[in-house]
Amino acid sequence: MKVLVTGGTGYIGSHTCVELLSNGDEVIIVDNLSNSKIEVLDEIKKITGKDVKFYEYDVCDKDCLRKIFKENEIDAVIHFAGFKSVSESVKKPLMYYRNNIDSTLSLCETMEEFNCKKLIFSSSATVYGTPKKLPLTEDMEVGGTTNPYGSTKLYIEGILKDLYKSDNEWKIVLLRYFNPVGAHSSGLIGENPNGIPNNLMPYIMKVAVGELDHLNIFGNDYNTKDGTGIRDYIHVVDLAKGHIRALENIDNNKDIKIYNLGTGTGYSVLDMVKAFEKTNSIKIPYVIAPRRDGDVAECYADSSKALKELNWKAELSLDDMMSSSYNYIKKNNR
Ligand code: NAD
Ligand code: UDP
Repeated sequence: MKVLVTGGTGYIGSHTCVELLSNGDEVIIVDNLSNSKIEVLDEIKKITGKDVKFYEYDVCDKDCLRKIFKENEIDAVIHFAGFKSVSESVKKPLMYYRNNIDSTLSLCETMEEFNCKKLIFSSSATVYGTPKKLPLTEDMEVGGTTNPYGSTKLYIEGILKDLYKSDNEWKIVLLRYFNPVGAHSSGLIGENPNGIPNNLMPYIMKVAVGELDHLNIFGNDYNTKDGTGIRDYIHVVDLAKGHIRALENIDNNKDIKIYNLGTGTGYSVLDMVKAFEKTNSIKIPYVIAPRRDGDVAECYADSSKALKELNWKAELSLDDMMSSSYNYIKKNNR
């Protein structure tokens, strides 16, 4: 298939491009490089031996999108492009609503114009709000998002559901990611945010290479086994493979499809720290800090629907997540 990947130089997008190319698909990336670097294209080529076509455009810009669709006969789109920081979205809600929603509207309108109606969208476990029951299954109620970023995901899901209702020719898959971590085994692509990271794994990685001196653990008084928050961490390569499965299956879809992509296992913050220390034989100093606003105590997936319908399940271990993260940051520490 000829696949347009929006946000393809980003963290999850780049790993998905590698899997697509390894699967024999043709890849076209559109990214405005607002949160990624052009060098990722060389790294993808080093890993796969294959070239990707690249457009440095903003996905909100329909004229640019039209040019891409005119120049390429695109079969399907995987839409990663968007802003993703919870804390930044609280400070700059309009910027988040504008970018995430506008890019999706521009993309879908252009796809409709060119009669390309196969779309995979990067959603998030955040659409479930505070879990009422665990593990989370796809049929559980969504809503009650606690920040603008999460709300953009919720609203876009709603927009895409309405789009499907209006025209059943669309084949739309909403993938709700849990907590992606880790990096490609080559150490060439991974996640290395600028400045102080918001997320746990990048923070641990920066402590590991001495860029930050300790981790702040946000709360140890949750009602969990050790008091720290529990999440479903999934290796980014497993996550990327979930997109390949969703794409391979897309023609069989009789409805808009929603899948949780997680491992089904919850780990606490302390579990993660200990696992990183053990796998990489390194100490991660930490202090217990107050709870972070908007955090839930526990969140993990039931991913059995993806297993049943897509024959997908996460295969890489916690050890793989820890070793690949450390390997990547050691090679890419700025
Ligand atoms: P990322 O920031 O690494 O990648 C997103 C890419 O999109 C970046 O390369 C950025 O430059 C690009 N981009 C942003 N706005 C654009 C625009 N208007 N036009 C063109 N390019 C644009 O993020 P990621 O972690 O790879 O996440 C990919 C997607 O998955 C996002 O939609 C994110 O919200 C979603 N998601 C991520 C996580 C996570 O923890 N990483 C969890 C759930 C969902
Ligand atoms: N966390 C932490 N210190 C940090 C960053 C995160 O203790 O510096 C905790 C956070 O409270 C949560 C877990 O790690 O319990 C995962 O947080 P992350 O931001 O990575 O993901 P999300 O909250 O989006 O699930």
